[in-house]
Amino acid sequence: MTTPVPDASHLVTTDPDVRAGYAQDASGLRLVPDAVARPTSAAEVAELLREASATRTPVTAAGAQTSYVGGSIADRGIVLSLRALDRVLDVDPIAGIVRAEPGAFLGDVKRAAADHGLLLAPDPTSEEESSLGGAIACNSSGARSLKYGATRPHVRALTVVLADGRVIEVRRPALEKNTAGFPLVQDPVDWFVGSEGTLGIVVAAELQLLPLPTSVTGLGIPFRTAAAALGFIAAARSARDHGDAGVAPRCLEYLDPKTFAIARDFVGGNWAAGGDAYAYVEEEAFRDDAVDLDAWLALAEGHAALADDIQVFEGEQSLRDARRMRHAVPATLNERAMRWRDAGGRKVSTDWAVPYLRLHEALVAADAIAAEFGVETAGTFGHAGNGHPHQHFHARDRAELARIEQAVEATLRHVVSMGGTVSAEHGIGKLKRQWLALQLTPSQQGMMRAIKHELDPLGILAPGNVFL
Ligand SMILES: Cc1cc2nc3c(=O)[nH]c(=O)nc-3n(C[C@H](O)[C@H](O)[C@H](O)COP(=O)(O)OP(=O)(O)OC[C@H]3O[C@@H](n4cnc5c(N)ncnc54)[C@H](O)[C@@H]3O)c2cc1C
Repeated sequence: MTTPVPDASHLVTTDPDVRAGYAQDASGLRLVPDAVARPTSAAEVAELLREASATRTPVTAAGAQTSYVGGSIADRGIVLSLRALDRVLDVDPIAGIVRAEPGAFLGDVKRAAADHGLLLAPDPTSEEESSLGGAIACNSSGARSLKYGATRPHVRALTVVLADGRVIEVRRPALEKNTAGFPLVQDPVDWFVGSEGTLGIVVAAELQLLPLPTSVTGLGIPFRTAAAALGFIAAARSARDHGDAGVAPRCLEYLDPKTFAIARDFVGGNWAAGGDAYAYVEEEAFRDDAVDLDAWLALAEGHAALADDIQVFEGEQSLRDARRMRHAVPATLNERAMRWRDAGGRKVSTDWAVPYLRLHEALVAADAIAAEFGVETAGTFGHAGNGHPHQHFHARDRAELARIEQAVEATLRHVVSMGGTVSAEHGIGKLKRQWLALQLTPSQQGMMRAIKHELDPLGILAPGNVFL
């Protein structure tokens, strides 16, 4: 035991097996906490925080622990699991709003909305295995963020337990004009969305719902080269933005040669044998509108797609199959990395972004940088329509891990010089905090520290996340 554990003993356990059960997420790190708390109500979360504050015990929130950056694990204090607060509280179909607790799986909240003909838009690939609270705390996004944005714009109100145990409700102002105070303070909902457990514990949330589309069409388009696939994706995004070429994608996804090979293995057979990269697009139709398949075909053929091997996904089951195929990519890469763990290796995944028209150029540069450090990716894929790839590396031992981290840092420096970001959706957590300063000026970091100090003056919430 390295830190005192508060006396809310009915909420906290120091059982070694339980602590070990909360020591890992999808980052590849392993950090064993001093204790674990599994409250079943917001009142218990508040009680725990009050006591933690009195004893200055660190508290790190955990949802379903799928963080790629070590956000939900800690080697000090308490890991506070929100999984037992898992109710979808209600759906108001007239106001188009869902209210739910943070431990609910995102997929369950989405289904509750869909039962009323409504869409909860945020769609991380992990939606069936990650929590609503995690999505809010990470401002998670997904393929459809191309059309709907990340989680932030969909959050209307939050109930938050602050570090000292006070419970507050923050709600977006229903104002069309407001010049009172700095923009930074006008909407406190924005403080908590994306704050990675460092500013408060979300114990309930209200989210805006949208109309469900009448139908969705997915197209899986193989290309002979990565350059052709990325050229197609950039053209489709530009066409959508300018309202021409008859296409209106809600997502524009990319698989490079290595990740396309994983997807092809998942599908099986000899499909798209001449292909070396892949684009996946979806377009929605509402009421009597229809997706213009001919427009998509013309755009794909204009970029030398393997037209005979294009897959068309229509209907719920077929679209679910397409999603499973794409989900197989990160799941397989994560699984393959496990074998290097004993030798001190692990998976390193980065998720940077650049302005979408520069993605191909950035990926070519990233490969060259990796080669300079004597490493190569295990696969690159992602939300190319937003200029946002995931580069996965597999470090086989500590020495290779060090070279990969140098390559990642050099890549992030380059990405930032192109107007990009060091983290597009996974957050900063513990793994990327040393790289935040590549992007944010000292003033910007100082503003973040000021907000942190105002809300958590003792610094007990999620120490090690985001801040060095
Ligand atoms: C296979 C796979 C695919 C993925 N795909 C995507 C993707 O497409 N898009 C994407 O954005 N991410 C993706 N992720 C990353 C991850 O799933 C998301 O960030 C997810 O939203 C995290 O939710 P979680 O419940 O697992 O949160 P956790 O991992 O438990 O926690 C994440 C962070 O949120 C904080 N937190 C959790 N709950 C609360 C709360 N109630 N109050 C305050 N802070 C809280 C934690 O302290 C931590 O900092 C993927 C991960 C995997 C393993």
